[in-house]
Amino acid sequence: MRSWTMKSVVFCLLIISSYSGWAQTSQGRAKALLEEAKGYMAKEDYRAADKKFRQILSLNEVVPTEALYFFAFTLEKNHQLQSSRNFLNKYTDLTGKSGEYFNEAKMLQNRLDVLAREIEACEYCDNDGFRLITCSQCDGSGHIDDKCPLCHGFGEITCHKCLGEGVQISKNQFGDNVYKTCDVCAGKGKETCTQCHGEKHVVQDCPRCNGLGRSGSDLLCNHKEHFIIPSMTQIKN
Ligand SMILES: [Zn+2]
Ligand SMILES: [Zn+2]
Ligand SMILES: [Zn+2]
Ligand SMILES: [Zn+2]
Repeated sequence: MRSWTMKSVVFCLLIISSYSGWAQTSQGRAKALLEEAKGYMAKEDYRAADKKFRQILSLNEVVPTEALYFFAFTLEKNHQLQSSRNFLNKYTDLTGKSGEYFNEAKMLQNRLDVLAREIEACEYCDNDGFRLITCSQCDGSGHIDDKCPLCHGFGEITCHKCLGEGVQISKNQFGDNVYKTCDVCAGKGKETCTQCHGEKHVVQDCPRCNGLGRSGSDLLCNHKEHFIIPSMTQIKN
């Protein structure tokens, strides 16, 4: 009896240790990635750090709380201001005033607030502070004049009643076919396009800029009317 108990205790311990071992592996993976991310942050390589944080998120495991703050910090450096705010809010929601990085989080919050005010006051950039440039798809008009997709630019479509035959066929009392000119198309077999009403083209909101005529670029806005697009060499340096 005693030996049975001992055996089951040992068995249970084995199970528990293998479970905690498994839990440590996934937690350990997130921790190791976080350390790698911090390493890149120390080298101010925030693009590489961003990739590491995304790997942590894709583990589908509980994310170490501090990773939320560090990711928010990285996102701010990469000018992903709205995402930065989201992660920062998650961090402060979870940790409240007891967070290890409470003061740092507050400083980041202040920086985001300052940037948000500058962006809001500026009419030349998008919500992340990137310069809005004239949409290349619509040349700034906000709409696109396209060939009608229904009639392919002909202005006419096949008559819906006679299906293009121009005649309607019915049977008389003796069962014979009786032919009558289609009253919808007057025998032409075509009717005016129902989408463009014969105009042959349709005007739609530009899908790229959603009708605004301007879309965000990858150039940071200086929040001034005058904006010089940096040359390639300047971007590289
Ligand atoms: Zn017809
Ligand atoms: Zn049409
Ligand atoms: Zn456009
Ligand atoms: Zn701006």
